[in-house]
Amino acid sequence: MEGKCKCIICGEIKESTEEHIIPKSLGNNELKIFFVCKECNSGLGTHVDNYLVNHRLIQIIRQNLKLKGQSGQIPNPFKEGRDKEGNIIRVDNLFVPSVVPKVEQQGNRLRVFAPTYEQAVELVTKKLKRMGYTDEKIQECLNTIPSDLKSKSFQPEIEYDATIDFNRFFLAALKIAYEYGYYKLGETFYADETAQRIRKILYKATKGNFDEKYDKVMLLPPDFSELLKPAQNMYCHMLVLHKDIENRLLVHIILFLSSAFSFSVCISDDASKYKIHQDCITEIILINS
Ligand SMILES: [Zn+2]
Repeated sequence: MEGKCKCIICGEIKESTEEHIIPKSLGNNELKIFFVCKECNSGLGTHVDNYLVNHRLIQIIRQNLKLKGQSGQIPNPFKEGRDKEGNIIRVDNLFVPSVVPKVEQQGNRLRVFAPTYEQAVELVTKKLKRMGYTDEKIQECLNTIPSDLKSKSFQPEIEYDATIDFNRFFLAALKIAYEYGYYKLGETFYADETAQRIRKILYKATKGNFDEKYDKVMLLPPDFSELLKPAQNMYCHMLVLHKDIENRLLVHIILFLSSAFSFSVCISDDASKYKIHQDCITEIILINS
């Protein structure tokens, strides 16, 4: 769909773009809207979607399901970690670890980190040259490197940071719920007071401003995961539009049908203004790699 639209994030009339309600990197090729302008689309990608899709825990799932990112690459969640001393350790796609090359000077000693003996020699040679050493003197230093180092295998214990900033997860869920609300309910939803509040928060987030929090996002209660058990081996996401007994309209988001990535977002405090015939509308989004 080409042409101009009213952007549902900034509210301005602008050129429309294709916006994936659930990020494309999570395998959603189906559920899209065309009511977000280019600037807001890119701001949502950078500041809202990216945190979720590139979180290490999500990257592990994406690597398993071979879900490529914007760059066209399948993520490697173990690409970079640290050893006990805090040195950066890289791990390639075949799980072979290597240190990031560097030379540290401690008094009159040099400490070298390198993935291979040859690279260590190259680093030391460069460093000593810069320090004004002659070729002869450099060779003398290199001779002091113990020869058994050459074949030493490298199997470090690697630590990874998997801290979750729930506010950023919730923000990504808020975006999905808001866009899905508009997709299902249209202009009535756009005018809803709750939607207006959400829109303001999302618009700020497109500019990298996360000051304002939305208090009606939460993780789905654990007992909900019981309901998911029969569907466990399906590769899909689920969205549920739900009118609750307090007349609120909620969107439940169950990514990868996993209770670990399940959110519930209130998108309206007055569900009666919408013509919804069932109390629950379920949408299944198949995952495409
Ligand atoms: Zn916009």
